Amino acid sequence: MIPMSLAQVAAVMDGELSETADPEAVVTGGIEYDSRKAGPGGLFLAIPGDKVDGHDFAAKAAAQGAVATVATRPIDTPAIYVDDAIAALTRLARHVAAASKARIIGVTGSNGKTSTKDVIGQLCAHLGKTVATEGNFNNELGHPYTVCRIEPDTEYVVLELAARGVGHITQLCEIAPPEFGVVLNVGISHLDGFGDIETTAVAKSELPRFLAEDGVAVLNADDPRVARMAEATKAAVLTYGIDEDADFTAVDLDPADGRHRFTVRAPDGQTAPVRLRQFGLHQVYNALAAIAVLWRLHAPLEAVAAWVSEAGRLSERRMDVFTRPDGTTVIDDSYNANPQSMGAAVRTLGQLPTEGRRIAVLGLMADLEEQSETCHRRLGEQARDAGIDEVVAVGEGTQPIVDGADGVTATHVPDQAAAIALLRNRLRPGDAVLVKGSRYRTWDVADYLRAKED
Ligand code: ATP
Ligand code: MG
Repeated sequence: MIPMSLAQVAAVMDGELSETADPEAVVTGGIEYDSRKAGPGGLFLAIPGDKVDGHDFAAKAAAQGAVATVATRPIDTPAIYVDDAIAALTRLARHVAAASKARIIGVTGSNGKTSTKDVIGQLCAHLGKTVATEGNFNNELGHPYTVCRIEPDTEYVVLELAARGVGHITQLCEIAPPEFGVVLNVGISHLDGFGDIETTAVAKSELPRFLAEDGVAVLNADDPRVARMAEATKAAVLTYGIDEDADFTAVDLDPADGRHRFTVRAPDGQTAPVRLRQFGLHQVYNALAAIAVLWRLHAPLEAVAAWVSEAGRLSERRMDVFTRPDGTTVIDDSYNANPQSMGAAVRTLGQLPTEGRRIAVLGLMADLEEQSETCHRRLGEQARDAGIDEVVAVGEGTQPIVDGADGVTATHVPDQAAAIALLRNRLRPGDAVLVKGSRYRTWDVADYLRAKED
C-alpha cells in the first residue's frame, strides 16, 4: 500500500478510530483479511464470514504487528470502525489508485481473462514493478484488495475485470480507472449470468466505453461483438487477430505440437517471431492482446515477442500440460469450463502429437440451463471431429456428450471415482489425456493423474 497515517485511512474509509488507536501511526504494510498474512506495519480487515469471523483474529493480527484492524463490531485492539468492511476497502482502493501514477491495464472477456492477465503481468514485470490480480481474485473483495497492493514505486497494475451483470465493470473501473482496456471475446459464460450473448456484449463493452481519450482499447478483431466495441470508445483502438486484418496480426501461424508458433506483425510493419509455451490456439489471441499492450507501452517488439515466448506457467489448472514418468501426457485444464473453452481444449487435445490415444475426460459445463443438453451434445460432436479416440463423460448431465460423440469410444460414468477407476484400467503409456469440467467437477481426476506414480 502507499504509506498513510491511521487518521488518514480512517478518513478515507469513512470510519472512526478507536480510543486505543494512535492516529499518527503510519501504515506501511499491506491490508490483509487473512490474519496469517497480517504483518508488521499492515492493516487487518476483519470480515465476518459464514464459518469464521475475522474479528476473532484481531488480537492475533495485532500481535503480529498489524497497526490496526478494520472492524464492524467492538474489539479490544486498535481499530478503525466502519459500517461495511468491503465498502471501506473499496474506498481505500479508490484513494490508493488515485494517488498512484501506475499505468492500469484492465482485462475482460468471457474466456481467458486470467490467462491473459497473467501474461500481461509477466511482461510488464520486465518493464517495472507490477501488481497483478492473484489467480482469479477478481470479485468485490479481490478487486479492491488487489488495488490496495499498489505501492509508491508500482509502475504497472494488471486487473482481471469480471462482469457479473450489466454495470459491474463500470463499477470496477471507477475504483481504479484503467488506461488500457483489453477485451478478449464475448461468449456464453456461466458466471456472467446474463442470459443472452448480446447482453454479455453490452456488459463487456463497459470497459472500452469507460476509457478516457488518452486511453487505449485493445480489441479482438476476429470476434465481431468485440470488434464493434471500437465504436463505443473515446480511446485509441488497437486491434489484434488472426483471420481479420488487424493492427497486430499473427502471420505464418504454425500449430507445431499444439504450442503455436507465429510471426507477429505490428502496425508499423515490424515483425517478430513468437513461440508460445502454452497450448492451444486461443493462447495466440491472448498473446497478441498482451503484445499490443506492451508495444503501446513502448517496449521493443522483438523483446516483447521473446518475453511472450518465455511467459511461464499460468494460474493453476489452466492448460497445464505435463508428461508423467510413464510417458502419458496430461492436459489439466480442469479449472473451469464453458462451451467455448471446452471446444478450444478438445481441439488442442486433437492437435497434440501422441504415440498413443487421445482421451478426453469431460465434466459438466454448469449453469447452461435449457441450453445444457444441446451444448453437451455439441461438445461430443466436437470431440469426434477433433479426432479424440475416447471420451469419458463424468457426472450428472453429461450423457449428451456421449450421445454426440457418435462413433467414438465414449463412456458415461456417474462420478470422478468411477472415472479414475476407468482410467486406471485403460490408460497406456504414451496416451494423451485432457481433463476439464466446470469448477471442481474434474479436479479429483486431474489430481489423480498428477499424483499417480505407476
Ligand atoms: P473465469 O471467468 O473463470 O475467471 P477466465 O476468463 O479468467 O475465466 P481463464 O481462467 O484464463 O479464463 O481460462 C478459462 C478457460 O478458458 C481455460 O480452459 C482456458 O484454457 C480457456 N481459454 C483461455 N483463453 C481463451 C480464449 N482466448 N478463448 C477461449 N478459451 C480460452
Ligand atoms: Mg479468471
